[in-house]
Parts: sequence; C-alpha cells; structure tokens
Amino acid sequence: MNTERKEISVVIPVFNEEKNLFPLYERLISVLNSLNKDYEIIFVDDGSRDKSLAVIREIKKINPRIKIIKFKRNYGQTFALDAGFRNAKGKIIITMDADLQNDPEDIPKLLKELETSDVVCGWRRKRKDPIFKKFSSSLANSVRRFILKDEILDIGCTLRAYRREALEKIKLFNGMHRFLPLLIEYEGFKVKQIEVKHHPRFSGKSKYAFHRRLVKPFLDLWIVFWMKKNWLRYEYEYID
Ligand code: UDP
Ligand code: MG
Repeated sequence: MNTERKEISVVIPVFNEEKNLFPLYERLISVLNSLNKDYEIIFVDDGSRDKSLAVIREIKKINPRIKIIKFKRNYGQTFALDAGFRNAKGKIIITMDADLQNDPEDIPKLLKELETSDVVCGWRRKRKDPIFKKFSSSLANSVRRFILKDEILDIGCTLRAYRREALEKIKLFNGMHRFLPLLIEYEGFKVKQIEVKHHPRFSGKSKYAFHRRLVKPFLDLWIVFWMKKNWLRYEYEYID
C-alpha cells in the first residue's frame, strides 16, 4: 500500500453503472466535504461495457481527489475492492456500492462507531430489494450464523468502514469480501454493526443472479468454516 496517508479513502467498485455515478458522486461529495477531512475517492472500473469509465473521467476533471483504477475486463467485486484497498492511502477505508443502494449520509455514523472499533458493518434493516433477494439474503445470513456461530446481521452489505491496520492483515480471495469482517474478527480486531439506510437501485441491473448470489457464497462459507477452525490463535511470552 502507498505510504503518503490521507484520512479517508472511499472505495467504490463499478461495473456498468453509468447513470448512477454522477448522482452518487454529488451526494458523496457533499457528505465528505461536511466532514472536513482529507479524503480520496477510488472508483474501480471492473471492466464496464457502458460509459461508466467516461463518466468517472468527467468527475475526475472536476475533482482531482478522484482516483481511477481500470480493469482490463470484468473480474468481479472482490477483485475491484482488493485493487481499491491496495491503492488506498486512507487511515480509514470506506466501501460502498456504486448504485446508490447505500446512502452516503450514513458515513458520519460509521466513522463515529469506528472510533471504538476496527470495522463497522452496515445492517440494511429495511431492505429495498425485490422479494427474492430479501428472502435469499435472510436465509443466507441465518444459515451462516448457524454454521459459523457469528453475530453479523447483514454480511452482504458493502457499506462498511475499516481501519487500515485491520484490512492490511487479510489476504482476499474471490468472494471473500463478504466475509471480511469475520476474517478481521478472527485476527483479533473489534467489529461493530450499525443500522444503515437502503434504497432501491437508482439505475441499471443487479450483477448477481442466483448462482453468484447464493451458490458460490454457500460454498465459500465452508472455506470460512475451515479457516475459523484452523486460524492460528495463540498466546506467548518471551523468556530471557
Ligand atoms: N460490481 C463489480 N463487479 C461485478 C459485480 C458488481 O464491481 O462483477 C459492483 C457493482 O457495480 C456495484 C456493487 O459491486 O457497485 C454491488 O453490485 P450489485 O449492486 O449488482 O449487487 P446487489 O446490490 O444486487 O447485491
Ligand atoms: Mg446493488
């Protein structure tokens, strides 16, 4: 990761979100300006086939604090987040979706809770999604909580704030961005959750069909189960 520090990096994965990006930028920037902190916004274009990249370039012309990372093709959300993390200069790293389902106005609340923790996860209590998505998400959260015995209410919510030290400890694999708060917890860091707002997708389509939404995360769950069981946790002391 880069050495010159900023206070906050906002990392946003983007795949075919052309109509969402400018409204997102405008709402995000008004929140970030109100915080009075040194920030950067990193848009990671995950191989968009629409005009997303052109829109992000326009935004960068207005605001030099925008960074753009462009993938050669569509790799997936974990890859985009990972590239954002590796290029982030922030002591605090915030992730959110590009489709305005997450609300930038929740960022100050996340930052407040992060004062006493290492990761703050959003909980979309009032989901504004189609019924199938709400049902599958609630089923997946219950099954996972039962197997991993964890307390995360909404593992699918990307609106989160991380302390950089916590993120730096974790190696990501495809699909693992969902489980990141748990991996960070296994590493000994403190995780908190807060209720956040949720909105219907502003424009465009969801990128997750049945397999990507349920089957792959269910298989990944067993990897995390194994990781939890085999995580190296030990205490030691030096003897002179
Ligand atoms: N996304 C991405 N690459 C992908 C799939 C999704 O960068 O291959 C981004 C997408 O543009 C959005 C976020 O990840 O900013 C979440 O995707 P989406 O809104 O489709 O997920 P959902 O809300 O339906 O779970
Ligand atoms: Mg979405």
